[in-house]
Amino acid sequence: MTVILDCAIMRRNRQPSVPVDTESGLPRQTADRNLAGWPTAMTQRSDRMFLSSPHMSGREQKYVDDVFATNWVAPVGPMVTRFEEDLARYTGIPHVAALSSGTAALHLALRLSGIGQGDAVWGATMTFIGGVAPICYLGAVPVFLDVGHGDMLLDLDLLERALAEADRAGDLPKVVISTDLYGHVVDGARMRGLADQYGFVWIADAAEAMGASRNGVHAGVGADFAIFSFNGNKIITTSGGGALASADGDAIERARFLSTQARDPAPHYEHTTFGYNYRLSGLCAAVGVGQLEVLDERVAARRRVHDRYRARLAGIEGFTFSDEAGDMHANRWLTTLLIDPALAGFSREHVRLALEAEQIESRPLWKPMHLQPVFAGCRALGGDVAERNFDQGLCLPSGSQMTADDVDRVVDIIRSVRRQTS
Ligand SMILES: *Cc1c(COP(=O)(O)O)cnc(C)c1O
Repeated sequence: MTVILDCAIMRRNRQPSVPVDTESGLPRQTADRNLAGWPTAMTQRSDRMFLSSPHMSGREQKYVDDVFATNWVAPVGPMVTRFEEDLARYTGIPHVAALSSGTAALHLALRLSGIGQGDAVWGATMTFIGGVAPICYLGAVPVFLDVGHGDMLLDLDLLERALAEADRAGDLPKVVISTDLYGHVVDGARMRGLADQYGFVWIADAAEAMGASRNGVHAGVGADFAIFSFNGNKIITTSGGGALASADGDAIERARFLSTQARDPAPHYEHTTFGYNYRLSGLCAAVGVGQLEVLDERVAARRRVHDRYRARLAGIEGFTFSDEAGDMHANRWLTTLLIDPALAGFSREHVRLALEAEQIESRPLWKPMHLQPVFAGCRALGGDVAERNFDQGLCLPSGSQMTADDVDRVVDIIRSVRRQTS
């Protein structure tokens, strides 16, 4: 059964009413495929359904127009400042530098942590390469720790044991990176406690966790540095971009300095150190200001998608969805499904190929870094859980434009794989 939803948000966006699925709150497919902004086109057979695509609200355009009208298109000016202030307000982290990518933000965080040649940097093995590569830019050496089975976050019990051992050996890391994978959020109070006890710099890689919180605080709060990404596939996007956030205003001022080629105050170009060209452009910041206004709606939409998958695939033997600790509000950037082939009778690869045949994109979870050829020589502490998650895990299409029918199509295909193999 469908009902017509006509809420204030939609009126504000001047979008026509569409039928909404009563159970999930997701929009239903409509016959009219030309409703601006509504996710009907991607359900057409000829079109591919993507894992996560950009979702503009329509508000971005007016900020982009402002930037054109005032000519602040370059990586400086009021729109960049406004985006930084909006991010600080939203996350509750007081100081923010808007940057060209999340990877750039991590590079700056590591540089500001004083990491150099040969230093060990610890972090979760299950992550995206952009959350690790900057360690190598600085000649430092990554050490990979295992993750938890349920939420795929850095295993803090393992971290705690490893820190105690490293302390005894006089071999403590200068920096530990936690990664808020797929929009789950690490236990910040516990991370802060460990950082204070063992004296490391805690960098929270919250690239996937905009809009996610735990214990009532946004991802990254309490860390020495938090990084965010606004890449095109993330929950909100600036087309490409990132941010570095910290409670330390001087550090963020320094990050801005380093992100604009480390130019000392002088009429000519004077340099006492070298920097990078990492600032976010005014045009991209304008898109970000518009996107941030709808972030809560985007989180709600992705959570609805997740809940529908979970409800429709409930009770299937061998299927596990990721946990959300009671005090966590994950943004469900991507819905992940673990399929144990011994119990289910088929593997995640069966499902991936069946979806692919229907022009639906899904993807294995991040391949653990300790299994990547580039890091073959690196130390790993544990890793079995990450390996099993990788073997069994599939990211399902999770975009905030998805309709209830889109989710159901994916579910039907997964169920048909089950029928065919049982
Ligand atoms: C996306 C991502 C990054 C890098 O962000 P970019 O903006 O793409 O450079 C870093 N870490 C994680 C976990 C990510 O998902």
